[in-house]
Amino acid sequence: MSYHVIDLEQQTQPNIICPSCQHCVLDWAKTQYIQPCEHTAFIALDLGFEYVADDFEQTLAVSVDEIHHQELNVWQHIQGSSLASLTIYMMSLGVADYKRYVGFTL
Ligand SMILES: [Zn+2]
Repeated sequence: MSYHVIDLEQQTQPNIICPSCQHCVLDWAKTQYIQPCEHTAFIALDLGFEYVADDFEQTLAVSVDEIHHQELNVWQHIQGSSLASLTIYMMSLGVADYKRYVGFTL
């Protein structure tokens, strides 16, 4: 997979806008802050997926259930996706070195 990472450095709760449709995919003003659009491939933490599109899950070597069940490394499996290209926003969770990842297919 070829992917482009946009590192939001130390930001912990940035709103994330889809680069294709400008929909606010992570909207911290909302209680239900995860609002995936059709371009959202996944929203994940190091500890597990918060959202995964069916199309994206099919490009992973291991299913999301299996990744959660076996507590496998989420970021490593995202990088192993067979998808052609992806833009990934990366931000800090503000806890240890944990990060949140938001992936978009373009
Ligand atoms: Zn979109």
